[in-house]
Amino acid sequence: MAEIPTLEDLEQQLGDLSGKRILVRTDFNVPLDEPEDGGPATIVDDFRIKAALPTIEWLTGRGANVVTASHLGRPKGEPDPRYSMDPVRSRLGELAPGVELLENLRFDPGETGNSPEFVATLVDGIDGYVNDAFGASHRAHASIVGPPQHVPSAMGRLLEKEVEVLLGLRNKPKRPFVAVLGGAKVSDKLGVIEALLDVVDEIVIGGAMCFTFFLAQGKPVGASLSEPDQVEVCSALLAKAAEMGKTIHLPDDITGTDAQGNFAQFGSRLGEGAIGYDIGPGSAAAFTDVIMDARMVFWNGPMGMFEDERFASGTKTVAQAMADTKAFTVVGGGDSAAALAQFKLDDEVSHVSTGGGASLELLENGDLPGLKALRND
Ligand code: ADP
Ligand code: MG
Repeated sequence: MAEIPTLEDLEQQLGDLSGKRILVRTDFNVPLDEPEDGGPATIVDDFRIKAALPTIEWLTGRGANVVTASHLGRPKGEPDPRYSMDPVRSRLGELAPGVELLENLRFDPGETGNSPEFVATLVDGIDGYVNDAFGASHRAHASIVGPPQHVPSAMGRLLEKEVEVLLGLRNKPKRPFVAVLGGAKVSDKLGVIEALLDVVDEIVIGGAMCFTFFLAQGKPVGASLSEPDQVEVCSALLAKAAEMGKTIHLPDDITGTDAQGNFAQFGSRLGEGAIGYDIGPGSAAAFTDVIMDARMVFWNGPMGMFEDERFASGTKTVAQAMADTKAFTVVGGGDSAAALAQFKLDDEVSHVSTGGGASLELLENGDLPGLKALRND
């Protein structure tokens, strides 16, 4: 596989960067506070803007004119004032004066549609391109895969770090290597579990994901979130893991609400009307042991509905284990990272990835559309 060009390679290719216009695809998809009246949103957390500064400053320090571009929220391929880049632009103006920011890329249907016309408008007047948007690099969108076909291109510092850490997990695993998976949607993550079985030694499953696995084991789940149409896939995964001699750890106790809606603790069989919202304390302790004994851990997806304090303790216990273990620890996923930050443990893990889907896909495939484009594969 060809090497991915770095900023240094770009400088070598373009010569003096002074006065050159460099398009930087950033991930400025910041969390927003959207007012009820449909007016312009405000930024809740500017970490994604700050994360792009090393790359931006490296370029501006060499005299380059930097033009940044990002998507924000989920506009439907047309201008939507709720997702205007204005609040990001004003914060960027404070952090990196003089740096330009294009309008929300997803205001144009050509972005997600990867239209050649849209790519042409992006690279018009541009001398070089840098991708620093790890969180969007698993999408073959115009701003991710288009520019490298037209102008000298490189990965930015943030993308470089993400690739180094996640490919390190995949290609140089320290064993036992454990994946901890949770969150709400099983169907999104089943493909990942299958691929991860080839890479990791053990998989720990919490969150709403565990209930579809319970169904596959013939256990009733009450009214918990589950995906009955995925039960067979879960059965097959359990069988495959057993065949490969790999352990899938499922919770054996659950916290949630009973049929009357009152807070309750259960074993791993939930009666009619009961809803599981978190792994129970016994499971949290068992999962902690697995994490403490590991030498590498990748975590994606909260263990429960941690936004509700009553159902945060499974996620909190696992987050604490991630902080305490001597293992090399990586956390990916917007909600998982938010949970870690909420418990003030984000500085206690080895790496917090800025990409959820992108980190899973890089672990799974060892490559991403955005990386392929930079290598001109
Ligand atoms: P990430 O963003 O880290 O990839 P996901 O988006 O997959 O994670 O899932 C996060 C969401 O899953 C959270 O909003 C959380 O409330 C929800 N969740 C976790 N466990 C449960 C559960 N048992 N029932 C309902 N929702 C759950
Ligand atoms: Mg999420």
